[in-house]
Amino acid sequence: MSNAKYIFVTGGVTSSLGKGIISASLAKLLQARGYKVTIQKFDPYINVDPGTLNPYEHGECYVTNDGAETDLDLGHYERFLNVPTSQANNVTTGRVYQTVINKERDGEYLGKTVQVIPHITDEIKRRIQILGENGEYEIVITEIGGTVGDIESLPYIESIRQMIWEMGGSCLVIHLTLIPYLTATGELKTKPTQHSVKTLLEYGVQPDILVCRTSHSLNADIRRKIALFCNVNVNAVMESIDAETIYDVPLMMLKEQLDKVVLNKLKLNLKQEPDMEQWKDFLGKLKNPVSEVRIGLVGKYIELKDAYKSIAESFIHAGVANECRVSLEWIHSENIDDVNVADKLEGLHGILVAPGFGDRGIEGKISAIKYVRENNIPFFGVCLGMQCAVIEFARNVLGMKDAHSTEMNPDTKYPVIDLMNEQKKITAKGGTMRLGEYACVLTKGTRTHQVYGKSKVSERHRHRYEFNNKYLSKYEDEGMIASGINPDTGLVEIIELKNHPWFIGTQFHPEYKSTVENPHPLFVKFVKATMEHSRNPVVENKILAENFTTRN
Ligand code: GLN
Repeated sequence: MSNAKYIFVTGGVTSSLGKGIISASLAKLLQARGYKVTIQKFDPYINVDPGTLNPYEHGECYVTNDGAETDLDLGHYERFLNVPTSQANNVTTGRVYQTVINKERDGEYLGKTVQVIPHITDEIKRRIQILGENGEYEIVITEIGGTVGDIESLPYIESIRQMIWEMGGSCLVIHLTLIPYLTATGELKTKPTQHSVKTLLEYGVQPDILVCRTSHSLNADIRRKIALFCNVNVNAVMESIDAETIYDVPLMMLKEQLDKVVLNKLKLNLKQEPDMEQWKDFLGKLKNPVSEVRIGLVGKYIELKDAYKSIAESFIHAGVANECRVSLEWIHSENIDDVNVADKLEGLHGILVAPGFGDRGIEGKISAIKYVRENNIPFFGVCLGMQCAVIEFARNVLGMKDAHSTEMNPDTKYPVIDLMNEQKKITAKGGTMRLGEYACVLTKGTRTHQVYGKSKVSERHRHRYEFNNKYLSKYEDEGMIASGINPDTGLVEIIELKNHPWFIGTQFHPEYKSTVENPHPLFVKFVKATMEHSRNPVVENKILAENFTTRN
């Protein structure tokens, strides 16, 4: 058995209380004290991973370096900790059952009845301990998705109970709960929390720490009352008041001494006071921007902002790097056409066309790109956004009428975006895209090369379609160049326009790699270009040729 310590974070009363942010904030504080920490999430649904889910269901699907399609909370973990996660950091009930059923078919349990206890719970416990086993991490924080009392999360709570029994002082349970405020009586109510803890106790789990989400501050009396009813120390009742930004939460938890209480309970050394200087500097700049830009995010899942979580967060990081507030305008691509595009994009200093799948909203994205290309407004296309830029250029500059991606129109005469060769024989949908990190060589003399300041990068992918190299020379002749290419396959990973202030499209997702500590250069420089545009819009293409020379 490993020496790592295990912290479990469960949720009570209601979902969406922000277990992911609390877990990430605690991890940040422990990391800032000098501990090696990782966070994993268990999701109690039956899908093997969230890759097959519509973003309307659970928001964005986040992709790790090793190509795991995961819950968006892993994005928070990486953005807070600046440490990459992997497949082992996100496990679903589907994956647990799939492993157990495969073992059963292989005869590993021969003669036995395979049951939730012990077989499913053993598999859950094995997956909790994978991250603590090889000495890489001293503390593993495991967030259990859903709310205590859900039928689906029962095997997880039972696994926690068993681990506490088996490992005693190496485990700790934090229960995140809600203290609602009744406006009519002006009171905070503790009863739902009492009930939620009672439910946990029925399953044999006593929480060590309660983190209470609230809109109003908890006074000493309320803290004492909660402590008394829930068998926890008063100093283990933490307030988590609604924050202005998620990046406030680590410092709020520091004030509540969450890190200290956790370390004391786990009998771990407090080491140094958390070094949060860089974090505070980031927050200071976030809250006191010197300038402001308006950037349009053109996509089709606009109703649910979580669908573009990593992009929105990357803009926050990039804004801070430029000491500029990025005000994102969410624009539904289904509502844009060639006639209204000028109105829809009016006053914006740049647009980002979002990733996506399928036909819905495509023509609106293409209209928006035509407009910003022709009007010298900074453009950034991510994955499908890049593919739309390629389609737009074919149709409106290269004279290839009706050019398209074969994803939207399999019979197009000009398949400028086409299914990748290795995808042609794939029929299964789960985990079969081109996923995870791939190398990309940048062409010297291009804007992209300038942005990154190096010649080789590695970025994360999630797609089946790709630029069709058959047309590359036609594009390059007219000024759309391939500025990033995969060295092993020759796939075009980045395109840019020569005579434009800032027009870049990436086949990969740079947003998955942007963190508080390391804002992504493409986002940073794109925001810089929008700031430039807000001060000094470029009207004529010829001005640009003087500022920027492309290769050869
Ligand atoms: N639908 C496109 C593809 O599969 C783009 C995917 C994306 O934007 N993530 O290639």
